[in-house]
Amino acid sequence: MTQTLTLDREAALARLLQLNREAQTLGSVGAVLHWDQETMMPPKAVAARAEQLSLLAAVTHQKATLDEIGDLLETLRGPAEAGELDPVGRANVREIRRSYERRKKLPTELVAELARVQSLSQEAWVKARATSAFDEFAPWLERILDLQRQVADRIGYTTERYDALLDEYEPGVHASDLEPLFAKLREALVPIVRGIAAAPEPRALTGEFPVEKQRELGLSVAKAMGFDFDAGRLDISVHPFCTSFHPSDVRLTTRYSPTDVTGSLFGTMHETGHGLYEQGLDAEHAWTPVGGTSSLGIHESQSRLWENQVGRSRAFWSHWYPKLIATFPEALGKVSLDDYYRAINCVKPSFIRVEADEVTYNLHILLRFEIERALFDGQLAVSDLPKTWNAKMVEYLGVEPPDDAHGVLQDVHWSFGLFGYFPTYTLGNLYAAQLFAAAGRAMPDLDEQIARGELLPLREWLRVNLHQKGQLLLPPDLLKEATGESLKVEYFITYLREKFGALYGLQSTR
Ligand code: ZN
Repeated sequence: MTQTLTLDREAALARLLQLNREAQTLGSVGAVLHWDQETMMPPKAVAARAEQLSLLAAVTHQKATLDEIGDLLETLRGPAEAGELDPVGRANVREIRRSYERRKKLPTELVAELARVQSLSQEAWVKARATSAFDEFAPWLERILDLQRQVADRIGYTTERYDALLDEYEPGVHASDLEPLFAKLREALVPIVRGIAAAPEPRALTGEFPVEKQRELGLSVAKAMGFDFDAGRLDISVHPFCTSFHPSDVRLTTRYSPTDVTGSLFGTMHETGHGLYEQGLDAEHAWTPVGGTSSLGIHESQSRLWENQVGRSRAFWSHWYPKLIATFPEALGKVSLDDYYRAINCVKPSFIRVEADEVTYNLHILLRFEIERALFDGQLAVSDLPKTWNAKMVEYLGVEPPDDAHGVLQDVHWSFGLFGYFPTYTLGNLYAAQLFAAAGRAMPDLDEQIARGELLPLREWLRVNLHQKGQLLLPPDLLKEATGESLKVEYFITYLREKFGALYGLQSTR
């Protein structure tokens, strides 16, 4: 089919990819600076670094919004839409067009106003949270919402405004697709949480866990997962993250507490899951959309799968627990594998999302999804937010926040204008369960492999079925190709029922 392309179109595609490559390369330079800022940079450098980042952001934005890109996309409109390009070319044009049009639809004044209000609003949020004073944050939230509504209206949508924002993070997924999935999830989760709340709480892990030993252990787990330390690093930061400049340079961070080993270990496994995705991308397509990762939800599925389906499983610890005891004999010598397994899977409704366990976590997200959607279609006023938030917490989790700092003010996202972002966390959990089930069908002895400490076959399955595909397909199609099915909430629900039903001796909650 490609032979039917005129040379002009081939040249247009080559030029488009070259311009995109320059913008992406500049973006990756910015990522190096960000990584340095979070891990190595001395505190006095903040202002100088801001200068560097701001100039780089401006140059990158110019590169990515050149009129020439628009002209090239116009030249390629026919061949790309008519399927005259090969699948890689088509996907590259689709993704470059998507981000170019998003940027171009927003007037510079709106972008600048957003940046200004967001930085002020973030400061206001920090203060309001510290004193639990929602009223002080409310006017800022109103402004942010107003600006984000303008963004959504400029970008456009077919059924509801919220979709325009969701599309930024999870292309091809609409709020109306999520609604029935999330409703099913809520129906299944609420009774599981109630059942667990009535059961006795597992014993907590206590003791001293020297940080240097935690680091060594984390490194050996990441290596066993197949992370290539000749193409990556593990460092320390206040908030753990993973960033990538190229598949040959992927940076992970974690944090350590001398009295808690699980925080750093599961944090490391989580970020390593993200990192394996980045290292698994097809380097042949580096600096193009097809050589990049898919959506936020797909990215999060990779971290959650390794952290939860693998890292919090009994199979995993039947191999690793003896090593953990040998590393921390004083703290864990008298703790049985069963007690340890129960402790790392403790389920308890709480106020704070980031501290929530596997079961209650998604109820925190469902609440935010429902609230965000209501804010955007005008069903909910900012002034009613705290009341609505607390009522939903009681309804879903059975706990009422003592104040707004433990409630509606807890997350930074809204002060940054990040609406439509939260649902990708739950999508990540749903994708993870569906992918892990598919990997289990492809490798019927997956559990035994994990119990033997063999994690590479799983990494390989993910690499072939997901990582190497980059952005060739939109997330819903990518999931369908990897698992043979569209997104189904049942995999996650079954996973939770089986695991926590056994752990907490729950009668069938079906
Ligand atoms: Zn993550």
